[in-house]
Amino acid sequence: MNAISPAVPAPIGLLAELTHRCPLRCPYCSNPLELDRRSGELDTATWQRVLSEAAELGVLHIHLSGGEPTARADIVEITGHCARLGLYSNLITSGVAGALQKLEPLADVGLDHVQLSVQAADAARAERIGGLRGAQEQKLVFGRRVVELGLPLTLNAVIHRGNIDEVQAIIDLAVELGARRLEIAHTQYYGWAYLNRAALMPTRADVALSIAAVEAARARLAGRLVIDLVVPDYYAKYPKACAGGWGRRLMNVTPAGKVLPCHAAETIPGLEFWHVTEHSLGDIWHRSPAFNAYRGTDWMPEPCRSCDRRELDWGGCRCQALALAGDAAATDPACSLSPLHARIKDLAVSEAATEVAPDYRYRVIGGAPAAARQEEPA
Ligand code: SF4
Ligand code: SF4
Repeated sequence: MNAISPAVPAPIGLLAELTHRCPLRCPYCSNPLELDRRSGELDTATWQRVLSEAAELGVLHIHLSGGEPTARADIVEITGHCARLGLYSNLITSGVAGALQKLEPLADVGLDHVQLSVQAADAARAERIGGLRGAQEQKLVFGRRVVELGLPLTLNAVIHRGNIDEVQAIIDLAVELGARRLEIAHTQYYGWAYLNRAALMPTRADVALSIAAVEAARARLAGRLVIDLVVPDYYAKYPKACAGGWGRRLMNVTPAGKVLPCHAAETIPGLEFWHVTEHSLGDIWHRSPAFNAYRGTDWMPEPCRSCDRRELDWGGCRCQALALAGDAAATDPACSLSPLHARIKDLAVSEAATEVAPDYRYRVIGGAPAAARQEEPA
């Protein structure tokens, strides 16, 4: 572990997972398999105090997330508190259920930005993936209303085997809705996505086609739509700097108030996470064992330790290293320099090659994940 200098820079962003409740049941959801229940969620006053502490600490951006953040009755109050503190607020929403009714009040109290998820461009397919009938029309109405209200809109699409042939159609949808930004984010295999990896893994050839579609659209739509592309780890040469590097840029507060260096960090056994009801956010950022466990470079094994990319990707993802190498302190096997990389790539190739994808195991609160047929969502 590193000795932490008092000069550890402040985090830039805070992901506020206000609730794990969500009307959708996406099989790639990044939430943990053990979802927090409503009865354990932080109350309004505690969230407001946490946001005030975030502003004091130097955080600039608050990502109001979940689950579905508009499922909270106090979402407008919480967002207004961000605005009063001068924090840039980004609502990360599925755009369904009560989201539309809350949009105008959110704009009125100073919401800065909306990120709307879509599961696919084709409605039937989108609703099969998200596990909710009627969701697509609600999302489209919601997205149009965001633009009418003058709020900047980002569309987010998680890409996988079930929608990878729709990347061009998703780009067209973003243009039609008037989004300023589109995230084409290939699935990251943590949480529910790890559980569903065999159902979600695309082929390398399809990945290449999706990247080509994004590159062509970037040139065609320059000045009109910014397209961010997150490439899939299993086919990559180097891993991503997960959360911008462990304990470097982001904090993640769970619905029950646990503070994590990244949203999947709870999968790593033995890490001690501190809670907002027992410590201030600043104390957690600087002193909590979980934030210091993989901060910096001193913890790194070879080949990361002597690699000239070690301060670019910070050794990749600790949760992925645990899941794939059985050791959270190992080099992320997504890296081509990891001794396990060839095995991971072979695994991806063989999962993607199955003629029929396995059934999705949809995200559910409580109990074991329920298997459900891809073609027959409940
Ligand atoms: S990924 Fe899907 S299920 Fe998970 S929070 Fe987002 S909309 Fe809800
Ligand atoms: S060896 Fe480590 S630091 Fe170097 S590219 Fe791979 S994961 Fe990154």
